[in-house]
Amino acid sequence: MIPASIPLESSEAERIAREVYGLEAQADPLPGYVDSNFLLRTAAGERRVLKVSPPAVDRQALECQTQALIYLADTPLADRVPRIIPALDGRTLPSVDQGQGGTRPVQLLSYLEGVPLAGVQKRPPGLLRDLGGTLARLDLALRGFHHPGAHRSLAWDLTRTHELARLARHIQQSDRRDLVRRHLDHFRAELVPRIATLEHGVIHNDANDHNLLVQGADGEFPTLGGIIDFGDVMHTVVMAELAIACAYLMLDSLDPLAAASQMATGYHAERPLTAPEQALLYDLIIARLCASVLMSAEGRHRSPDNEYLLISEQPAWRLLEKLSMIDRDEATEKLTGSLEDHGTPARSAAELVAVRQQHLGRNLSVSYSEPLKIVRGQGPYLYDERGRRYLDLVNNVCHVGHCHPHVVAAAQRQMALLNTNTRYLHDHLAEYALRLTATFPEPLSVCFFVCTGTEANDLALRLARAHTGCRELVVVDHAYHGHSPSLVEISAYKCEGPGGDGLAAHAHKVPLPDTYRGPFRGPDAGAEYAGLVAEAVQDAAKSDRSVSFMAESLIGCGGQIIPPQGFLAGAYQATRATGGVCIADEVQVGFGRVGTHMWAFEAGGVVPDIVTLGKPIGNGHPMAAVITTPKIAASFDNGMEYFNTFGGNPVSCAVGLAVLEVIEQESLQQHALEMGTLLLDGLRHLQDTHPLIGDVRGLGLFLGVELVRDRDTLEAADTEASAVIDAMRGRGFLLSTDGPLHNVLKIKPPMVVQAEDLSAMLEALDDVLGEIEIRA
Ligand code: PMP
Repeated sequence: MIPASIPLESSEAERIAREVYGLEAQADPLPGYVDSNFLLRTAAGERRVLKVSPPAVDRQALECQTQALIYLADTPLADRVPRIIPALDGRTLPSVDQGQGGTRPVQLLSYLEGVPLAGVQKRPPGLLRDLGGTLARLDLALRGFHHPGAHRSLAWDLTRTHELARLARHIQQSDRRDLVRRHLDHFRAELVPRIATLEHGVIHNDANDHNLLVQGADGEFPTLGGIIDFGDVMHTVVMAELAIACAYLMLDSLDPLAAASQMATGYHAERPLTAPEQALLYDLIIARLCASVLMSAEGRHRSPDNEYLLISEQPAWRLLEKLSMIDRDEATEKLTGSLEDHGTPARSAAELVAVRQQHLGRNLSVSYSEPLKIVRGQGPYLYDERGRRYLDLVNNVCHVGHCHPHVVAAAQRQMALLNTNTRYLHDHLAEYALRLTATFPEPLSVCFFVCTGTEANDLALRLARAHTGCRELVVVDHAYHGHSPSLVEISAYKCEGPGGDGLAAHAHKVPLPDTYRGPFRGPDAGAEYAGLVAEAVQDAAKSDRSVSFMAESLIGCGGQIIPPQGFLAGAYQATRATGGVCIADEVQVGFGRVGTHMWAFEAGGVVPDIVTLGKPIGNGHPMAAVITTPKIAASFDNGMEYFNTFGGNPVSCAVGLAVLEVIEQESLQQHALEMGTLLLDGLRHLQDTHPLIGDVRGLGLFLGVELVRDRDTLEAADTEASAVIDAMRGRGFLLSTDGPLHNVLKIKPPMVVQAEDLSAMLEALDDVLGEIEIRA
């Protein structure tokens, strides 16, 4: 329900201006759909706009609208949109108490010059292109803006137009009712899935001809003055911005498609429309017209005597009927035919597989026997080319959510400004080094910036060798540390598998500290597994060699293993006794994923000598880092320069800083703890009813579910695990398997995953486990 507008006297508006803003001004009412709006004029001739919202307004949405305007004030769009003026006490969205009327939020805005486009008869092509271009720049500027209030449910959300079908009964003429129903059926069946694959983001969402202001309307070259009324700001499909503006622009135009084409040209010049977006423009314009006539039909149903609604809806009906008679392809050609195509051609999944087979190394694997073509990611979700949404439960790279707007904006901003290397001084490099090292305990305070987890581990080995003068290394069985020669030969996961040459002579492995399947399973398992490390280290340390130890703080490829308490502490102690150093590979598990701490080694009660970071560090941007002690860094500084062309570049540092900011601002570490607890409880509950689940383990949002055919023999249920993964994919949940026996379901979703989605996942898993046949 839209909260009803509650009238407000001008004298009351003047009082609010005076008392809340310290502004002596005369108030005159302005039109407003929901809010009470006033033009304020001071004696000095200054103008402002005062908006007083009804008490029942969606406060989060209003907060979002306010924050969006504050955000835009720092972008090139600043002088095209109203500026928020703070109250005397500094608040940007103060409230006024209206006694019986309740508390009403207030905004004071700067006044933009110009007249609404609605009243401008002369609309030369240049003006229309200017309008389109500005809307595109607004959408680009808003790419970096995010706010929980933007994710709102609004009848005017173009992506949900089909949900307005229930209002069609209020359309009195049967031919018109049928027409709208036909469009909505088409929308539901054909458009919804295609829209889901397009870029989504925060947009103005209501660039109608009353909200676009024009300057110099009487002259030869009228120009855009500004965009007002951000009341419908929301997160939706970005191209809705253009479609909505086009729909209103076309209403009274003699050649509506030509006018919209000009606007689309201007928009495309600033934010190129992809081929799928171009193909949908006509349909989305129709969708907005349908929404418009449906909403006014409902309005008339509620207020049958409202003549205004009857008159105002006529242009929308006329245009809808006119456009409905044109062939879709023909209309699309007129709208977008002149736009240059900037995109790569879209190929079917089968064609993509064929190209990979011919032109890419065959040992590049692809998930699922029927591979997925993913075209868009947002938060914890991925979308395939048909618009099907999947909950991503395995990607720990897109740590703060796929395409997080804050990270995207930071990268875009810096990429447009400068990208060089570390041989020049740069603020981002210094700031990032300071902020990143601040998250580590002493004496871990020196960073090396590299590009991948492999590079980080490779450098970690060099640091260890430089410091100890020795190559000997103890590693954990089934561990994976990277794909370069120096790492493949110490990663049992690779070198002891198909095509491998076995462990290098200087690498010595110890068993996985696995309390479910390994040799030690009791309360002393931590010390017992550490004892095996001590033996291996001492063995390798013969003839006075220093032996180093490298392990993930929680073990990924080995099967989502949470080492028992005491394991890392014992292993580190034995290592250091030989003069060796301890390397913690946090490429998978760092950055708050464990929930209780920022770094997983902290949960293990140790402080390593070298820590390697990767995957989540850049939320998908290729970057990684090594953090070590001043002493080890000094041993490495032996005269040979360390240079890394891309490592530590200003774009990567901007991205890394943005990731740290999001983790902090969105309290993602705490969130991981809460979500992880929810998952652990839910999975353990499933374990009670499904004998296939042998073990459930995890810390924060790093979990494993080990499937067995028999809880006594622990026979690995590998084919069953694959079947579960496939069935879950069919239900919209992406998981994968890992572990030496390929029977562990791996769960490590983006940290922004929400409780409702996890509950839905648990329900689906319950069903799927009920359907899986356990092999005899
Ligand atoms: N260490 C661990 C624990 C990993 O999981 C990986 C990647 N799976 C790496 C290192 C190597 O990282 P990258 O693929 O970025 O080189």
